[in-house]
Amino acid sequence: MINKKIFNNTKSAFKLKSNTELDRAIFLFSMMNYSSLVKAGTALTKLSLKLHLPVETLIKKTIFEQFCGGVTEEDCKPVTREMYDENLHSILDYSVEGKKTEEEFDSAMEKKLSLIEYAKKSDEVTFAMFKPTGIGRFEIWEKVSEKISLTDEEKEEWERVQKRVDTLCSRAHELKVRLYADGEETWMQTAADDLMEEMMRKYNKEEVLIFNTLQCYRWDRLDYLKDLHKKGKEEGFKVGAKIVRGAYMEKENARAKKLGYPSPICESKEATDVNFNSVLSYCLNHLEDISVFIGTHNEVSSYLALQIMEDKGLSLDDKRIWFSQLYGMSDHISYNLARKGYNAVKLVPFGPVRDVVPYLLRRAQENTSVKGQTGRELSLLREEKKRRKGDKSTKHHRE
Ligand SMILES: Cc1cc2nc3c(=O)[nH]c(=O)nc-3n(C[C@H](O)[C@H](O)[C@H](O)COP(=O)(O)OP(=O)(O)OC[C@H]3O[C@@H](n4cnc5c(N)ncnc54)[C@H](O)[C@@H]3O)c2cc1C
Repeated sequence: MINKKIFNNTKSAFKLKSNTELDRAIFLFSMMNYSSLVKAGTALTKLSLKLHLPVETLIKKTIFEQFCGGVTEEDCKPVTREMYDENLHSILDYSVEGKKTEEEFDSAMEKKLSLIEYAKKSDEVTFAMFKPTGIGRFEIWEKVSEKISLTDEEKEEWERVQKRVDTLCSRAHELKVRLYADGEETWMQTAADDLMEEMMRKYNKEEVLIFNTLQCYRWDRLDYLKDLHKKGKEEGFKVGAKIVRGAYMEKENARAKKLGYPSPICESKEATDVNFNSVLSYCLNHLEDISVFIGTHNEVSSYLALQIMEDKGLSLDDKRIWFSQLYGMSDHISYNLARKGYNAVKLVPFGPVRDVVPYLLRRAQENTSVKGQTGRELSLLREEKKRRKGDKSTKHHRE
């Protein structure tokens, strides 16, 4: 039986955190527990940036340093190197959002290409990623998903989006770098699913390099996975499944209600958990055809994966299985998995402070819910602080 306590080791989880960093994390997670404070802070941040008030230093010293690796990939190097020394890999995510012009999409694609090349060169960075709406207008993904006919101009625009995706996937294939596409809102996701399926067909013939994201708060995802698997078997390609629960639940439910269609989201958290665990088990039971990237902060699902791996006698560092958490969150899972020898990887966002604010505000909002892992996060951070107080004689962490 898997030791169900490995995530409780706070000493290894927070080894790289200085006392000051530990205090900052405790302060931030405590503040984020107050949803009214987060709401007010979110509005104030947006307004201050709009009015060009000098709040960037404040953001940088607090929430930015907690959740981002730096402004440039160079800034992230000390962080990724330190983590790699602990057997924890990285994914660099240039988290700039909300761009709208073709020039901006081209330049975002160039940036992603350079990060694929960076992943090739660096041992620490094991995956590259992109967000579909980061390289093409949301509305064009939406129109294609909803099969709304395109004008000639839009047809050309869609061609360019497809070309950008193909350029990234073909480069990843050429350099043998694993690349995944993020999952987004259901009403634009069908076009992304179709395109990523095409990319798997083209580039996942021998090994899995291209991954698509399955958001398991969607009740249709196990069927989607089975269908993709079946096509892969019939047509001779392998499946890359990045599995997460999903980050757009409120938006999804609100839209479904407004437009009067059944919500694509599971009816409860428990139903999402069951769905996530079923998708996870399906992947781990078909590793000959499927590689899985498990993006979760949920301990029960993580322990389930470890148990299935043990039952199947798989090696801990089986290259078809990756565990991932966001930088600044759930270190107790990432570092303890890495310490035991599993493939663990942190998603490290970076970018100019002002441009990563939408990402940071999502993290703050996500962390207001004590139903998730946040309460646990805070209690482990406090436990580590206590542990250090009682263990003054030895220095296990940076000062
Ligand atoms: C490495 C990584 C990559 C990610 N990439 C993406 C991505 O590409 N796209 C994306 O959308 N998200 C992504 N996420 C975020 C992810 O989808 C979750 O929002 C987040 O990880 C919290 O879920 P959890 O499994 O960690 O933990 P938990 O705290 O156990 O689960 C919280 C999640 O459960 C679901 N949930 C909560 N309440 C309910 C309810 N009442 N009914 C139904 N479901 C409910 C929601 O999805 C919520 O986010 C990523 C996360 C990680 C760690």
